[in-house]
Amino acid sequence: MAYAYDDTNIFARILRGEIPNKTVLETEHTLAFHDIGPQAPVHVLVIPKGPYVNFDHFAAAASAEEIADFTRAAGEVCRMMKIAPGEGDNGYRTISNAGTHGVQEVPHYHMHILGGRVLGSMLK
Ligand code: 5GP
Repeated sequence: MAYAYDDTNIFARILRGEIPNKTVLETEHTLAFHDIGPQAPVHVLVIPKGPYVNFDHFAAAASAEEIADFTRAAGEVCRMMKIAPGEGDNGYRTISNAGTHGVQEVPHYHMHILGGRVLGSMLK
């Protein structure tokens, strides 16, 4: 399957420094920043720095190092934002929208991390 990455998307522009962002965490291969339209008290977007359209593209084409870096950064964001389940922390949700049925707006792979309140569920 061929994936076409459009480098004019807003997250590509953030990565190039053309648009400001409120950074939570930056690593060699990953950037995490606050969503501009938060849907919960904590709403952070985690994106790889590489040109991947969505999760399945990232999973197929990213290096093991990029995937490990992304996964570790996302976990670190949950702890930094104090939403990781544990003493006094109450949990979170991760979401990644893809394509038309997933209602993906920005065609650069991103993981939403949401928390800080009880989140409504479409899965229960
Ligand atoms: P999607 O629907 O693609 O999964 O989510 C895209 C997300 O990007 C939305 O939650 C939207 O609020 C966020 N977003 C769109 N433009 C910007 C921007 O310029 N800066 C930041 N920080 N978030 C953005």
